Amino acid sequence: MSRYTDANCKLCRREGQKLFLKGERCYSTKCALEKRNYAPGQHGQARKKQSDYGNQLREKQKAKRFYGVQETQFRNLFDKAAKKSGKTGDNLLIMLETRLDNAVFRLGFAASRKEARQLVTHGHFTINGKKANIPSMEVKAGDVIAVKSRSQQSPKFKEIKDMQITVPQWMDVDVNKLEGKILALPTREQIDTPIAEHLIVELYSK
Ligand code: SF4
Repeated sequence: MSRYTDANCKLCRREGQKLFLKGERCYSTKCALEKRNYAPGQHGQARKKQSDYGNQLREKQKAKRFYGVQETQFRNLFDKAAKKSGKTGDNLLIMLETRLDNAVFRLGFAASRKEARQLVTHGHFTINGKKANIPSMEVKAGDVIAVKSRSQQSPKFKEIKDMQITVPQWMDVDVNKLEGKILALPTREQIDTPIAEHLIVELYSK
């Protein structure tokens, strides 16, 4: 399975929206989308009228890129979301939001989801005291995500202890202990990701 390795900023320019893939740079004037808010490539500046299918496809691509999930994994998540009770679109977003890499990012332990994925893979975290090195692991209400005691000595995590971190309502963080708790599963209203999930549901329901 291949992971996309071209310039991350091109993905934002393609979607016409900030996907926050590069940490601090995304919040600065160096953000490529601030300078060139049009799609990359020779015809990037041409105005195109998008079909319904095109809109649905773009929304799916945007969601995948936002959360750093690949096509097959995304489709599998959608199928699981469809089997759960409630709205499929809501379920899908909640499942994306409760991936371990996203939770680490939301807790402020990484500057971007991409960095969070890397830190998780490198084994810096535990869930409820047990090794957790799979970015797609699903976190549940009551789970405690912590930076391993050995990793806490690294400059990367030491500097987090001095930060003021605001987390979503469904989480709590103790920066001194470098640990966070999942208070409850997020509701759709608590997820601020700019995705029109109904378009993804329409796309996969064809
Ligand atoms: Fe996207 Fe961040 Fe690049 Fe801006 S700096 S285009 S938000 S990845």
